Amino acid sequence: METSATMKVEDSMTKTAAGVSSSDTAAINWDSELQLVSSLAKLQELERRIHELRQLVPSNDVDSLDAQMNLLFDKPVGRSLDSADEASGTLDESTRTKMELVDGFISAWQNSDMKNVWTHVESEIKDSDSHVLQPTGMWERDYDVLLDDLLRAEKTKEHQHSLEKEAAERSQAQASAESWKSILEQFEKRNTRGVKASVISQVTPKLLMALLKTGMIFSIQGVQLPDAEGSTEWMVSISTVSKRAPSKIEESIMQHVNSRPRKWDLAFVMDMISSYSDLKQTVCTKCNQLTDNVAQLPILRRVQAIPPAKPEEEGFVFDALHASCA
Ligand SMILES: [Zn+2]
Repeated sequence: METSATMKVEDSMTKTAAGVSSSDTAAINWDSELQLVSSLAKLQELERRIHELRQLVPSNDVDSLDAQMNLLFDKPVGRSLDSADEASGTLDESTRTKMELVDGFISAWQNSDMKNVWTHVESEIKDSDSHVLQPTGMWERDYDVLLDDLLRAEKTKEHQHSLEKEAAERSQAQASAESWKSILEQFEKRNTRGVKASVISQVTPKLLMALLKTGMIFSIQGVQLPDAEGSTEWMVSISTVSKRAPSKIEESIMQHVNSRPRKWDLAFVMDMISSYSDLKQTVCTKCNQLTDNVAQLPILRRVQAIPPAKPEEEGFVFDALHASCA
């Protein structure tokens, strides 16, 4: 059994600066602010734990130990043997909890991330002629909070970068009115098995994709948005032979495809639809099963990377997921 205190230590101790692998000592960049703050946060947490461990055997614990020993040996009138057993059980439980705290601390102190920090601290002390690095003996900052701020800022920066990248791709896609036909040509060149794509209208951007194995036909139509750039988004509907109503699964797939990101990206939607070509053989990435406990196929799709290194050659790759596993 882990105590919540032990878990908190482990949670804090595993928060590592992004991109720093614990086994990769040589690769640690000690000039990185994130690395330094992350290491200081670990040291600060260890110090906090030392103070906590110091209070493990306070005087009232000794008093309570006395009381419980009295209970064991004096057995006043009216006390049954069960109460004595109970007292001894409580004592055992309390000792176990404390031992877990001590063990948690030792493993946090000795883990490989900390080893790297200790090695660095030792070499810094050596370089500074054995001067203690923190002369005030006080922590002036809360490094755990600082680390959270830094990690959050890093994430925002990454998100901003991916938004800018997508905006650039989007405007490139809009730049040429004819670009959708070249995307179709690239798709045909990749010759995706079991998928047939064809242009319906040369005038308005519209094409059909037939998935031969599953017998589903998707119609993809470019819809011009009423914005200043006159940008196009691709809407997907189900085409059925002899006007039968779409099945429930076709409807669900269509709704999911229309809720995708990168709606302006024709290559993206064509690859997403292609990922349904082996619908009845594609297992869920998460549970590795074909059907879930309510007998549903994994019809959700999650793109593996946005975008692939060479989208025109490789295409986007999608993971299949059950709605219950998403
Ligand atoms: Zn699943």
